[in-house]
Parts: sequence; structure tokens; C-alpha cells
Amino acid sequence: MGKVLIIGAGGVANVVAHKCYQNSEVFDEICIASRSIEKCNEIRNKLTGGNANVLTDQLDANNSDLVIGLIKRFKPDVVINVALPYQNLSIMDACVETGVHYIDTANYEPPEVPKFEYKWQWEYRDRFAKKGIMALLGCGFDPGVTGIFCAYAQKHYFDEIHSIDIVDANAGDHGYPFATNFNPEINIREVTANGRYFENGQWIETEPLSIKSVYNFPLVGPKNIYLLYHEELESLAINIKGLKRIRFWMTFSDNYLNYLNVLKNVGMTSIEAIEYEGNKIIPLKFLKAILPDPAALGQRTKGKTNIGCIIQGVKNGEPKSYYIYNVCIHEECYKEVGSQAISYTTGVPAMIGAMLILKGIWKKSGVFNVEEFDPDPFMEALNKFGLEWNEDFSPDLLD
Ligand code: NDP
Repeated sequence: MGKVLIIGAGGVANVVAHKCYQNSEVFDEICIASRSIEKCNEIRNKLTGGNANVLTDQLDANNSDLVIGLIKRFKPDVVINVALPYQNLSIMDACVETGVHYIDTANYEPPEVPKFEYKWQWEYRDRFAKKGIMALLGCGFDPGVTGIFCAYAQKHYFDEIHSIDIVDANAGDHGYPFATNFNPEINIREVTANGRYFENGQWIETEPLSIKSVYNFPLVGPKNIYLLYHEELESLAINIKGLKRIRFWMTFSDNYLNYLNVLKNVGMTSIEAIEYEGNKIIPLKFLKAILPDPAALGQRTKGKTNIGCIIQGVKNGEPKSYYIYNVCIHEECYKEVGSQAISYTTGVPAMIGAMLILKGIWKKSGVFNVEEFDPDPFMEALNKFGLEWNEDFSPDLLD
């Protein structure tokens, strides 16, 4: 039916490639392109359970002309960008130039400024619309499925949604004293940034990890959760009409926070370049180089993730609360595709987004966030492709 170009060859790309390959009636040709072709070949050599034609290529996606060249040679119908957020704009430029649909799972961030904002990517709206193509932003789990869960709640259960708490628990254990479960540089930039949430029309900024609570996650148990800023808050605050408050919470173990504090206090998480023996190095990039590769955590990680949305609002004049979540088991993800659950929960939705675009089920021209589409076909596909969801109509609530 269609051709997909997957850019990046890390943990998430591995899952996207496996899931597209398993769905060969939709994706009959796949190209995996990344900075190092060896990593693309490694992924290709592990693919089973399908019959798509799979190519690989070397690509520096920071260079838009090189992306254009590859798109012209391979002629994909859709590009799934699962490299790093720094490459988003050069890949979007190439998609506009060549008239190809675009999907990513994390919003653009300038390398020198740790600031998540959609503004740079939303500026492409007219260019994508004029070309008659779509950019689907943030189609992983969070952002991604969390936005779909909110759109689904809005469509089926609420007249008005007043409050959303997105709660993300990773109760997996990889056995290392300290490691991050997706790209360490992006992960540490996110966690060490100021917290932020939206209340009564205003953004309230907090010191990093200064607001803490406890949530009893189904199938995972009670966990400490910390308020963070997360990019889907920005689009959901606009797209869920009548919303009064939205917050994002993530679990961190005391061990992870102790290590992070030490690394921060000694300057290892800084993105300011320093002079070292005549060379300029960025401490966080150096730290990334010595931490375990998240793509290699799969085999060691045991336990579950639970990510979902606790939603409160009104239906037929009555107050209503609703919790929708997915539980994923690290070991099962590894058994199926050779990656841990964080990569799995990101890669499956990216494949589903591409499938809905290729099938013409999600069809609009311009730049969009996932909650701007009909959630039903996506929700059905989540159950079919490995991310079953659960509902609770009298959940525990957060203060
Ligand atoms: P990895 O670091 O494992 O993989 C990133 C890949 O991109 C690597 O293969 C890397 O190459 C490649 N890459 C980096 N720079 C370039 C470049 N200039 N040109 C071509 N390829 C490049 O990260 P993950 O797989 O863990 O994450 C991928 C994306 O998914 C990230 O943007 C992350 O933020 C996002 N994400 C989203 C989540 C969600 O729920 N929405 C959750 C988790 C992740 P090399 O191997 O040579 O370094």
C-alpha cells in the first residue's frame, strides 16, 4: 500500500521498524536511515513476521538537502522522524520541499536552549497546508496517546473537561545504578528543567521536581510522582475547550534522583560548553556518551509501565471523573521486538499514526497535534497492535 521512511536507528526506531514490518500489508516498502548505517542494518537484520522490502541508508538529518536527496531517491509516502528533536525542522523542511507527510514523537528544541515549545513547528502550518500534506506532531505515548486519550474522553464521556492529570509511571528495573530509558541527553534536559502547569488560563512555573505526590497506579502500586512540564500540556491546553487545569506527573525512584542531583551539582548535566585539554566539550553530551545506551536496556529491564490520564469534568450537569491508562510489561516488549517498554510505547503509536495517514483515515493538510483528529480509529488500533487500554470510572484523584 505505501512506503515509509524511518529516520533514526535508536530504541524507538527499532520498534517502529518492527511494527511497520509486522504490518506489511500497509507498509510494503520500508527505508531505515540514520547517522550510522550499521545501526540501521542491525535493525533490518532482526525484522521478522512480515514481508516488506527493507532498505537502509546513511543520513545526516541535520542537513535538509541530504534528507531531500534521500526522499527523492526512495519516494516515501510518509516520513517517521524518530531521530532527535534537533532534527525536526530540517526534516520538516525536506517534507515540504518534496510533498511528503511527516510524523514525529517529540517537539523541536534548539540544541542551545532547553525549552520545549511547539511554536517552531506550528509555524510550518501554512507551508504544509499549501502543499496538501500533513505533519502529525508528537505521535508517541506522551506526547501522543495521552492526547488521544483526552480526545476520546472528550468525545465519549464529557460535555466539558475541567482538569487533566497525566500520570506516567515507569516501574521497570534495568539493574544499572543510573541509566535513562530514552535518549539520556533529551531525558536529562527534560527532568532538570523548571516544572510548569496550566491553571485558570495561566502557566505556573515551579522549581525542578519541587512538587511531589504519591499515586497508587493499577498493577504497579503506589509510587512517588513529581510534577514536570511536558510538551502535550501546551497543545491540550488549547485543544481541549473549557480546560481549567492540566498537569503532568512522572515517577522517579529515590535512587535516580540521588544520582541526578549529584550529577547536576558537579556540573555534569550542563549544556554550556567547557574547555577540556584544548577541546570544547558539553558536559551533558559527554555524560550521554558514558551512560548505558537506552537501546541496549531492553534485555535487562523487568517490570511494568503505566501511563494514563485522570480526567475530571461534567456530563449532563453532573460532575464526572474518569481514568484511562495503558500498562506495558518490559519483558514482553523485549520478547516481541527486542526493546524495552518506553521505546515500545513510543514506537507503536508512531506506526499507527503513519498507518492512519496512509489509509486516508486521518486526512488534513497542515500541521496538527494528535488530539485534533477522531480518536476512535487510533484507539481501536492501540488494542490491535499491542497497547491495550483500561478505563476506571471512579479513580483515585490527585489534589
Ligand atoms: P536514541 O538516542 O536511542 O536514538 C536516536 C537515533 O537518532 C540514533 O540512532 C541516532 O544516531 C539518530 N540520530 C541522531 N542525530 C541524527 C542525525 N543528525 N541524523 C540522523 N540520525 C540521527 O533515542 P530514542 O530512540 O530513545 O528516541 C527517539 C526519539 O523519540 C527522541 O526524539 C525522543 O525524544 C522521542 N521519544 C518520545 C517519547 C514519547 O512518548 N513521545 C518517549 C521516548 C522517546 P546515533 O545512533 O548515531 O546516535
